[in-house]
Formats: sequence, C-alpha cells, structure tokens
Amino acid sequence: MSNATIIDEKVLNECLNEITRALLQADVQFKLVRDMQTNIKKIVNLDDLAAGHNKRKIIQQAIFNELCKMLDPGKPSFTPKKGKTSVVMFVGLQGSGKTTTCTKYAYYHQKKGWKPALVCADTFRAGAFDQLKQNATKAKIPFYGSYMESDPVKIAVEGVERFKKENCDLIIVDTSGRHKQEVALFEEMRQVSEATKPDLVLFVMDSSIGQAAFDQAQAFKQSVAVGAVIVTKMDGHAKGGGALSAVAATKSPVIFIGTGEHMDEFEVFDVKPFVSRLLG
Ligand code: GDP
Repeated sequence: MSNATIIDEKVLNECLNEITRALLQADVQFKLVRDMQTNIKKIVNLDDLAAGHNKRKIIQQAIFNELCKMLDPGKPSFTPKKGKTSVVMFVGLQGSGKTTTCTKYAYYHQKKGWKPALVCADTFRAGAFDQLKQNATKAKIPFYGSYMESDPVKIAVEGVERFKKENCDLIIVDTSGRHKQEVALFEEMRQVSEATKPDLVLFVMDSSIGQAAFDQAQAFKQSVAVGAVIVTKMDGHAKGGGALSAVAATKSPVIFIGTGEHMDEFEVFDVKPFVSRLLG
C-alpha cells in the first residue's frame, strides 16, 4: 500500500464518519449506516482515488449513489390504472397522517381524471369517520362509512362493493391505527385485507418517528402485504431517514411524500432531493 493510499484511506474514513453523523441525526437506522459504510469501502477503490483529484467529492458521490440504491427495493410497486378498478388499503399507526394522506392520494388522482372513492374502515377512533367525511366532502370525493357499525371488516367490504358497482377506479380503504403496535391492530389489518383483497397496501409513516421506523414497518409487513410506503410530514424538521428502514423492512418503494396539512401538499417521491436532504 502506497503512502498516498494510506492518506486516502484516512480521507475516506473521515468522510464516512462525517456522513455517518449526519445520517444518524437524520434517523437512519444504525445498522443501515453500517451496511452503507461496508459497501462504500468495497466500491471506492483507494488506488484509483490516489491518482485522482477531488477525493472527497468522489467519495461523497459514491455515498449518495449508495443511499439512492438503498431506497430502491429493485422492483416497482403495483401502480393502479385509470379506468380499471383498484383497491388500495392504507395502514399505519394512529397519528401517522393516514386519514389525511388517503384524501391527498384520492385528490391527486381525481385531478388527473380518475374516479376515486374513500372508505372509512376505522371504527376504533371516535371521530375518524367525521374526519374522513369532512376531507372527502371538501374534495368532492364519494365516501362510505358508518357511525353505528363497529365491525371494520363489514364496513370495508360494503364500501368496496358499493364503489365497485359505481365504477370507481380507485377505491381507497382507510383503516384504524393505534398508538402502539398491538396484536389486535395487526389482526384487524389482516382481516380487512383478506376481506377486501387490496391490489396495493400502502404503509403510511410519519417522518419524525426516527429509529422506530424499522420495527413498525416490519410489524405491518408481517400481517399484510405492504407494497409501497408514503412518508408524511416532510415539511417539518425531520429528515425522514426512517424511510430507509421502511424500504428495507417492507422491500417496497416510497412512492409519495406528504409536505403539509393541506390536500394538495403531496408530492411524488423523488429520491435525489430526498437523499440530499438526508445528507445535510
Ligand atoms: P391518522 O391518525 O394516521 O389518520 O392521522 P391524521 O390524518 O389524522 O393526521 C394526524 C395529524 O397530522 C393531523 O393534524 C394532520 O393534519 C397532520 N398531518 C398529516 N400529514 C401531514 C403532513 O404531511 N404535514 C403536516 N405538517 N401535517 C400532517
């Protein structure tokens, strides 16, 4: 090993340490940061670096690319098609922004000429149906729910059936959450999913949940076939590093981000600006 290579190894380690600190602060899981470091050490060829200029830039670019890769599970999620009926089930803990995001998702598609509809299968939280009703009415999106019925599976099935008959092409099922990951919640998700046979299950994650993201995403994935992730509250301080955990735990991509409380504060996920923000 030449002297230059030893110096470059030092530059590489310094660079990795700096970026590791930033990533941990951005809530990226420690294990994923370590995996990233290992991969970078494999990818960055120190002998090549020794000859080149701008070593730090080369290393930073390699880390950037590696993080983009970690956010790509390698296969796209199911994409509903306009004019063809799809059922999309939303899951996530209470407070993650699930109900708000259901309407945003419906509204986003409605603006593009779809015929979306919302089903409130959250019978756990008092006020859930009112909230969905209010949002749906504001966006002029048909909705279904009940104040009386306490069985979420029954409501979900009835709502999906009704909107299938009405030829809606995007039937969105909002489900209940709990404050914690509880057995009862996951059993309920499993039953709603089994009864409505969703084409896509969307996991909604609050960008500020930090290191809890991996376990949370994994727990949902173990009960229902999570196929894509939406990260909410990206307008806040949190950088959303938990998204890497959610992708790793569910092996599915992030497809949208929420950027505010309003209906139109919703964007298609774009990996490069997301990673830039993670890094600093
Ligand atoms: P749920 O319990 O998961 O259905 O969560 P809600 O949809 O009721 O959202 C919980 C809170 O988060 C509400 O006050 C929402 O307005 C807020 N919220 C949801 N998404 C976003 C977002 O992208 N940005 C911000 N700032 N607030 C959001």
